Amino acid sequence: YSTSSAVDNPITPSIKVDYTQLLINGNFVDSASGKTFPTYDPRTGDVIAHVSEGDAEDIDRAVSAARKAFDEGPWPRMTAYERSEVLFRFADLLDKHTEELATLETWDNGKPYEQSAKIELPMISRVIRYYAGWADKVHGLTVPADGPYHVQTINEPIGVAGQIIPWNFPLIMFAWKVGPALACGCTIVLKSAEQTPLSALLAAKLLHEAGLPPGVLNVVSGFGRTAGAALSSHMAVDKLAFTGSSATGKIVLTSAANSNLKPVTLELGGKSPFIVCKDADVDKAVELAHFALFFNQGQCCCAGSRTYVHESVYDEFIEKAKTRALKRSVGDPFKAGIEQGPQIDSTQFKKILGYIKSGVESGATLVTGGERLGNKGYYIQPTVFANVKEDMLIAQDEIFGPVQSILKFKDMDELIRRANQTRYGLAAGVFTNDLDTANTLTRALRVGTVWINCYDVFDASIPFGGYKMSGQGREKGVHCLSNYLQVKAVVTKLKNPAW
Ligand code: NAD
Repeated sequence: YSTSSAVDNPITPSIKVDYTQLLINGNFVDSASGKTFPTYDPRTGDVIAHVSEGDAEDIDRAVSAARKAFDEGPWPRMTAYERSEVLFRFADLLDKHTEELATLETWDNGKPYEQSAKIELPMISRVIRYYAGWADKVHGLTVPADGPYHVQTINEPIGVAGQIIPWNFPLIMFAWKVGPALACGCTIVLKSAEQTPLSALLAAKLLHEAGLPPGVLNVVSGFGRTAGAALSSHMAVDKLAFTGSSATGKIVLTSAANSNLKPVTLELGGKSPFIVCKDADVDKAVELAHFALFFNQGQCCCAGSRTYVHESVYDEFIEKAKTRALKRSVGDPFKAGIEQGPQIDSTQFKKILGYIKSGVESGATLVTGGERLGNKGYYIQPTVFANVKEDMLIAQDEIFGPVQSILKFKDMDELIRRANQTRYGLAAGVFTNDLDTANTLTRALRVGTVWINCYDVFDASIPFGGYKMSGQGREKGVHCLSNYLQVKAVVTKLKNPAW
């Protein structure tokens, strides 16, 4: 790994934080209570900025603005092409402000700057352009019903969407939520994660610069139990989209049901298997399995966090996985060439170290890592466990950190049973050149995405979502549009049915 001095002397970011207030009805405003909360630099634990803290009263103000913008327009009444033009201009502004947005993202979250700027920002403007393209292609059907009727369906925007997002990909989550909702003509109240409120405020400001009318997108920074709870139980919110933990997913689903039965989509946790078959080129498999787990400091809902390796290549795989983990460059995420920055905050940092301890205590073999790195911030050594068994906590719980758990398997039926033996079903990776093996696993695995000889491919057109306790509904792609639409059936009696 990098030396501890590289993590103990953080580089000072080159921008200042301009937007810290709530964005309601097109204006940056203080919270009704006047309260603020600090957002921290995960490299040091120091405060970056104090951000207005929204709670129930602010959610109420934001929902009123979104309600008015929906009920009175102009957004849902503009032509679909006009809406798409706003989104296309927004995507251009995202490209123009890449450096500033990527800097805020890395500062607030701790992910490598090169990842923010070169991988994530291009994905974000791409997904916005993808949905800009859909705006004027959403249309209904003419239905050949029995009887003397002319029947058609109209797709209408569902109304005011409440959107709650997590901290691991703040801007990507913003784009996945806001893009389709705006394309469909909805208005929005978005609550960002309390750990990473900064980039959503700048992005929302750019969206207004692109021509978004006031009240269409309102951004409320704040905590889950106050602002998040108020949004999910609000009677004037027509739809809720949530990304975060399965535990919170249950809470928001219950509040949605207990208030106005608003439909809910959920993107939740995972414990995804990454399967290395016996025909695998071990060097390539090690590299991909490493990426599947360690990308974004292991803080991915779809992290390949159960690495299943066929017994015939198991020993070689462990040795090479260890070498690769030792080579991983960990350090200040603003430094060039860094693969891994700090974890998001002290809560996650302690939780991950707790899971590492539990892995050792339950009898897994700690192959490398396992400790904090440096003396400042939330850096953790890339960690690899071998001889992991299904009944261990590290094989069942989402660790959300740089901890790879490697399990051995022998035959396909046994593997399928074990890979599906989890409450989650978000994704799976399969590494093989054998067509039959790939097809069998693809059909047998109960997961929302199967990546074959690749991982974490997030093109805007590919639907993403979970089976089982990993969620409900799909984001991205054409599938996401239906989350933000109502279907109206129109039945007209025909005077002259012969025609
Ligand atoms: P979390 O579920 O607590 O938070 C996610 C969002 O929900 C945040 O905006 C938070 O403020 C809000 N929230 C929290 N409590 C709420 C409530 N009672 N009502 C309404 N909103 C509420 O997640 P976390 O603890 O910040 O993240 C840790 C875990 O989340 C991870 O271990 C992982 O399982 C999961 N996670 C999943 C994804 C994903 O994409 N599926 C992304 C990030 C995190």
